[in-house]
Amino acid sequence: MAVGEYVSVASQRDSEQALIRLEKWELEHEPDEEFDELASICRQRGLSEATARQVVTELHAHDALGAHLDAELGIDPDELTNPWAAAIASSISFTIGALLPVLAVLLPPPEWRIITAFIAVLAALGLTGWLSAKLGKCGGLSCGCSSAVRWRWQ
Ligand SMILES: [Zn+2]
Repeated sequence: MAVGEYVSVASQRDSEQALIRLEKWELEHEPDEEFDELASICRQRGLSEATARQVVTELHAHDALGAHLDAELGIDPDELTNPWAAAIASSISFTIGALLPVLAVLLPPPEWRIITAFIAVLAALGLTGWLSAKLGKCGGLSCGCSSAVRWRWQ
């Protein structure tokens, strides 16, 4: 689980870094096209032509790369994904999530093991779904349930 999460997030980080390099290259080699591209994004967000060009001029004077990364790609270069943090969080949550069903099988008398394991798995799925919905700011019971099902079947 942790290795899979590390690989997934590391490839996402590699993609983000490649996009940042591409954007730097475009700003150095095609500054006029980049200016027009950002002005176009500003116009699509409701600014007039003159205001859009003024905004882009000021953004370029302050932090051109940051402005392009934010507007075009939604990337903050100071907040890239961290594959180690994702791997550690995945291994901790997997261990905690697996502990409840394991205890439900080991602790009760043999005749109660199946029903307690069943209830413990449902409780663990509900808890992890609710937690992932809360952490993902998804909200709502259906979102939490679908998160739990997706997590279990990955
Ligand atoms: Zn660009």
